[in-house]
Amino acid sequence: MRLIDADGLVHRLSGCAIKSRKLEDWDRVQFWHKAMAEVKSSPTIEPDMIRPIAYWILGQKEDGTYYLSCSHCQYEADKYYDFCPQCGYEISHPKDD
Ligand SMILES: [Zn+2]
Repeated sequence: MRLIDADGLVHRLSGCAIKSRKLEDWDRVQFWHKAMAEVKSSPTIEPDMIRPIAYWILGQKEDGTYYLSCSHCQYEADKYYDFCPQCGYEISHPKDD
């Protein structure tokens, strides 16, 4: 997946349509308008939707106490967090899977 500036692309396609209109190339005008419609109707992906995901790994120290370790950065936490305090990855809880 590659994120692009959809509004910028529509602006560029609009410029192409205007040039084609000046040349009275109506097939191309129609083509550019269809392309703009496709871009405009494409789903928007919010930055939160691509936030990296990690999960807690339950560990036990030599003294018998338990801890949680971030699967991404191995940060050790003493309680559940929704986001890793060190790397910021969103934590996927088993109930979310
Ligand atoms: Zn982490």
